[in-house]
Amino acid sequence: MKVIIYDTKPYDKPWFDRLSLEYNCEIKYLDYHLNADTARFASGYKAVCIFVNDVADKQTLEALKENGVELLALRCAGYNNVDLKSASDCGIKVVRVPEYSPSAVAEHGMALLLCVNRKIHRAYSRTRENNFNINGLIGFDMREKTVGIVGTGKIGSFFAEICLGFKMKVNGYDPSPNDDFAGEYMPLERLFAESDIISLHCPLTTQTRHMVNRESISAMKDGVIIINTSRGGLIETPALISALKSKKVYGAGLDVYEEEADYFFSDYSAEIITDDDLARLLSFPNVVLTSHQAFFTEEATREIAKTTLESVRTFMNGETLLNEICCDNAKAPPKPE
Ligand code: NAD
Repeated sequence: MKVIIYDTKPYDKPWFDRLSLEYNCEIKYLDYHLNADTARFASGYKAVCIFVNDVADKQTLEALKENGVELLALRCAGYNNVDLKSASDCGIKVVRVPEYSPSAVAEHGMALLLCVNRKIHRAYSRTRENNFNINGLIGFDMREKTVGIVGTGKIGSFFAEICLGFKMKVNGYDPSPNDDFAGEYMPLERLFAESDIISLHCPLTTQTRHMVNRESISAMKDGVIIINTSRGGLIETPALISALKSKKVYGAGLDVYEEEADYFFSDYSAEIITDDDLARLLSFPNVVLTSHQAFFTEEATREIAKTTLESVRTFMNGETLLNEICCDNAKAPPKPE
């Protein structure tokens, strides 16, 4: 059993190394992203493992196919970076890790919300400089505020439970309602109009891309907080920037960003940020931006490595793949009326 892992980070290796012994799996680690140019390094490997910002478009998949690849294993839940139709045309099976720790992502969403509301990031900087002044750090009670959760799957439902623990009113929108969701379902327009806080937990699809845009923001409450731990493309960034400038939006907690692939997971602290939208977002005192780390807990990284290697093992043994994503089941649910 052999697998090549693209875009390897130092934190990926400990669990993959440890579990590779259990699975008797030879692993080759690459630092680079997967794309049409780097696909050739997969030669000799039937199984390729990628992460959120690797590109598996038509050209890349055809290059993988030419190099003998048969399985593409995503070590993440979202799969918007994979052209599933082309994968199917190339005869490459695609698997993912559908659930590694929904609580990890939901908890990070709440961490962002608390930080934006209570300005913990600013307080931290002040006290580090012996500045104990609390002017400008005022927040609001979360109790009895209304949170609107868009996408009430595993993470959204867990986020709802956390919010209920804070005694918040929880509303939800999802074209496929979930019995485990403890809030009140309502149409998206009503959710946008009634929520003090909006938290995004749906996948990025053609239907959901830029669901937070100028029009939908204008229909939101003045002073709304927007939390996004899902995918950056759900938000039209210039629209969010305008709304932050006009104070329509009170603040934003973002773990993902539309153009994150160029920056996230790397150290640019000595470089100039040439992405003006990213630079502008980072300039707001009421925006807390983390670098796609909502999943990043010990428990989740262990589960990601285990599920990925289990999928590779299952594939090599010709058994049924439990976590396969096919063109058909990847179809987004219809847009609500
Ligand atoms: P899930 O499949 O359990 O839930 C997603 C829900 O979104 C489903 O109930 C689905 O019906 C719903 N949905 C689909 N289209 C919708 C639409 N148009 N409007 C509203 N809801 C819609 O997935 P999950 O495990 O809860 O993950 C949610 C998302 O979180 C993933 O798609 C992924 O992009 C993101 N994620 C981010 C991180 C991170 O580290 N930041 C980690 C894991 C997952």
